[in-house]
Amino acid sequence: MAFMFKRASLSFFFYALILLFNQSIISQTNSKYGIVIHGGAGTILRTSMTPEKEAEYTAKLNEALQTGYNILETGGTSLDAINAAIIILEDSPLFNAGKGAVLTEKGAAELDVSIMDGKTLMAGAAAGIKHVKNPINLARLVMEKSPHVMMIGAGAEEFAKENNLEMVDNSYFITKERWESYKKMRQREEERKKVEKQGTVGAVALDKNGNLAAGTSTGGMMMKKFGRVGDTPVIGAGTYANNNTCAVSATGHGEYFIRLSVARDISALMEYKNFSLSDAANEVIMKKLTALGGTGGIIAIDKNGSVAMPFNTEGMYRGYYLSGEKPNVKIYKD
Ligand code: ASP
Repeated sequence: MAFMFKRASLSFFFYALILLFNQSIISQTNSKYGIVIHGGAGTILRTSMTPEKEAEYTAKLNEALQTGYNILETGGTSLDAINAAIIILEDSPLFNAGKGAVLTEKGAAELDVSIMDGKTLMAGAAAGIKHVKNPINLARLVMEKSPHVMMIGAGAEEFAKENNLEMVDNSYFITKERWESYKKMRQREEERKKVEKQGTVGAVALDKNGNLAAGTSTGGMMMKKFGRVGDTPVIGAGTYANNNTCAVSATGHGEYFIRLSVARDISALMEYKNFSLSDAANEVIMKKLTALGGTGGIIAIDKNGSVAMPFNTEGMYRGYYLSGEKPNVKIYKD
């Protein structure tokens, strides 16, 4: 009897050893991590950009990448990384999110936002936000502190206030530049057809524990009707994350992204059809979205740290920073 017990405990010991060994191999192969961001897609042409403006965009994108990357590097979560990167882009007047958002037909800023945790499939979103300084924090709050996924307008803002988020006057979001182009567009009906829509921001990340997360924040589309909600706060359209596949953040003409469930479609192609990330992303953006007449792009990272950033517009502000590599920022097609 004692002999049998000894044998059993010995084999248990070896079993535990093998388990430990395997685990260290698994955590080694999972050690790739990184962050990908975007600052919107649209008619971004080299010919209409000054060197100064280009440098400003590049510096801000690099700052957001570096901030998110530092969090991942020190063992932080992908959620914290994308949250911090998006705050930097929301605070910058260069992008159509937070400060610098485009304006509705009535001349106000109305912001949409969402966030998703690929580990738990928990998600949070808010639409029609006019006074929360950093909408991405509200999306996170909805995800973590409410039983809901999406909240809108006054109710969402009351929830933000209750939870001590920083509130601002709507004029905080409205930059001189956006106001000028709004006024011009109101005067000239023709210009409305050539509306510049780029500038939404988003981030996706993979952390050291293999957890994926995605977030997107926007002012929506210039001259949108009051009450219009785009793809950004719609989980599965503008944002999606699933640890088994990938994390996606979209930018572009939101109505098309909603109709195609773009972000979720990319994940589903990987899940059900075993597509690679780049094949899935190209299928949805370059084929399906383009065939429907939609414009825009996405950024994505998969569970192995592969990155895809396809878009069918002239340009997309974008960048990635992966472990073992240098940060990489791009604006135009090439
Ligand atoms: N997708 C956003 C929307 O339709 C706009 C954008 O990405 O530029 O609200």
